Amino acid sequence: MAKQDVMDQLVSLCKRKGFIFQSSEIYGGLNGCWDYGPLGAEMKRNVEDAWWRWMTQEHDDIEGLDASILMHPRVWEASGHVEQFTDPLVDCTHCKSRFRADQIEGDQCPVCGMRGTLTEPRQFNLMLKTYVGPVEEAAAVVYLRPETCQGIYVDYQSVMTAMRRKIPFGIAQTGKAFRNEINPRYFVYRSREFEQMEMQYFVRPGTDMEWFDTWRDRRLQYYKDLGLRPQKLRLTPHEKLAHYAAAAVDIEYEFPFGWGEMEGIHNRTDFDLRRHSEFSGKDLSYFDDETRERYIPYIIEASSGLNRTMLAYLADAYDVEQLENDTRAVLHLHPRLAPIKAGVFPLVKRDGMPEKAREIERILRPHYRVFYDESGAVGRRYRRMDEVGTPYCITVDSQTFQDDTVTIRDRDTMAQERYPIANLAQVLADKITAWKRPSD
Ligand code: ATP
Repeated sequence: MAKQDVMDQLVSLCKRKGFIFQSSEIYGGLNGCWDYGPLGAEMKRNVEDAWWRWMTQEHDDIEGLDASILMHPRVWEASGHVEQFTDPLVDCTHCKSRFRADQIEGDQCPVCGMRGTLTEPRQFNLMLKTYVGPVEEAAAVVYLRPETCQGIYVDYQSVMTAMRRKIPFGIAQTGKAFRNEINPRYFVYRSREFEQMEMQYFVRPGTDMEWFDTWRDRRLQYYKDLGLRPQKLRLTPHEKLAHYAAAAVDIEYEFPFGWGEMEGIHNRTDFDLRRHSEFSGKDLSYFDDETRERYIPYIIEASSGLNRTMLAYLADAYDVEQLENDTRAVLHLHPRLAPIKAGVFPLVKRDGMPEKAREIERILRPHYRVFYDESGAVGRRYRRMDEVGTPYCITVDSQTFQDDTVTIRDRDTMAQERYPIANLAQVLADKITAWKRPSD
């Protein structure tokens, strides 16, 4: 299937099945903003929970934080965003379209095709501004954060003291970020309102490059463990480094529209803490008991986008399979990311089967998001669950009344096996843990 078709089909599936809608659609939409429908909200939460759990639960040296979106305006002076967080903007004087300079080639407008109508690039700051307090005056201007990590830097000493941490340790945070992107595109890939998942790891200078390599490798493996196909992942080191970085590499995924960054791993040196020390007048240095030295910690960051990684999981999972007499659209999502974990069906709508299936639904609901469905032929019900990535379907049939077992049908292999009702919650837990992505 052509790559453009894959993207069109995925966008259409997302809308039809309640994953992602255009924001304010009844008013014609707001460019760069998206709403997550029932299944999308569920899946986005799962993507975020997987990250949060991996960071703060599976690592014993990482603490969580939830800092506010609005911060003191000086934060963005210290960080360099007021001065440097800009993109080169080019206007077409004929059709009034706007582009980022690196998105056009030559002197031809990509929209109207006219030549010689493009302006020289001018720097455009991507931060969105608002006001706090009742008066719209300059002193009350604040920014909607363009990245979540600054909250981590300004709170790092409080976290370290409260949790009695020593360096090295990390702080993880997820939350909204806003950028007035010149050209939002590729569905949720580049939005104006989005969510980041960022972990900042504080280390002793001199150990920074070792930690940089460690986090790069761990983060790449993380995506493979959650089912992304290795051949669709690559590491791309930055040739040109940002003002704060000593090393930078992107973890990229091959989206249907091409390779794109999902996560950046950066060695930010002591830039951030040094600047916040200067601008706030607070000493943010650290005294190392073991080496008896005082230093400003270096920071290794793993900065990813929730919406972008969710798009990668969806694109990677999406498949249209040719079966013997049929085709099926299926999302081979990791069961932990799937919005619904199991469908629960009576084989037919009689002989006590619906009541039994409802009973199983009640047993499973405290553990998993499950979906009861009795409408239409069972094959159709399987297909509907395949299309939204539900990994397991549990069916009550006549044998259930003889031996208290049901079938569990696997989304990926479509094979069915019988299991006792008594163990269902545990069986699902084991299957979710043992899941491996089917090979192509
Ligand atoms: P790009 O080069 O694509 O603009 P970036 O290098 O500016 O991205 P970072 O500042 O490193 O991105 O942000 C870290 C992560 O946040 C990115 O890897 C991406 O997953 C996510 N992200 C950044 N900008 C956006 C956006 N406009 N929409 C959705 N996600 C974004």
